[in-house]
Amino acid sequence: PYDASSTDGWMRRFACSARATEEQLTALDQEVGDGDFGTNLTAGVGAAVRRLDRLPADGFGPAAPLEAAATAFLDEVGGTSGPLFGLLLQSLAAAVDSGGPTTTALAEGAADGLAAIQRVGDAALGDKTLVDALAPAAEALRATPPGEPPQVALAAAAQAAWRGVRETARLRARMGRSSYVGERAAGVPDPGAVGVGLLFASDAGVVE
Ligand code: ADP
Ligand code: MG
Ligand code: MG
Repeated sequence: PYDASSTDGWMRRFACSARATEEQLTALDQEVGDGDFGTNLTAGVGAAVRRLDRLPADGFGPAAPLEAAATAFLDEVGGTSGPLFGLLLQSLAAAVDSGGPTTTALAEGAADGLAAIQRVGDAALGDKTLVDALAPAAEALRATPPGEPPQVALAAAAQAAWRGVRETARLRARMGRSSYVGERAAGVPDPGAVGVGLLFASDAGVVE
């Protein structure tokens, strides 16, 4: 089943992916921003894992790991991306809390997270931000039949997110710091979008 240990594992694997990718993320943000995205993301997942380790050993619900990660990003990470990843994780947590760890709830959470991020950051599709990975990921979750397990839905979301990441390499930034560097950002994927790809790709993908 997809349960509390699944969402806990998802967040822990996200931490591993972020750490393993830190140098590349730093290099990308050096190209299109101020070079701190790798540091910001690893700080977020580090704070998230510390909170996961403090969840009660005698059991917690499937939303708790997502909520723990959300609080870590919202309370402990600076930069633009910290609060934005926090909003996404918080929306996923809220949807799983009310609907259970289902494909439908994850789709709802991703859509809510996208809406919250766009409300706060005002980026549209094509502005070369993490929205370009999250919007297709949310759409892939929504398009997954509700009868499919969350692992399948998240794998589809990851694939869609990576397509969005590739798309950002072609785009010119209109929002955030990378809008200041103009032509220098041409051909370089958006680091925040890569972070969203890592998030969705970090589910185990194993259907038990
Ligand atoms: P900062 O630019 O403050 O250093 P980070 O390096 O932590 O922030 O994060 C940069 C990422 O944040 C970008 O790669 C982009 O994906 C995302 N981002 C920046 N501005 C916006 C925005 N207005 N809406 C959505 N995402 C944004
Ligand atoms: Mg930065
Ligand atoms: Mg910065």
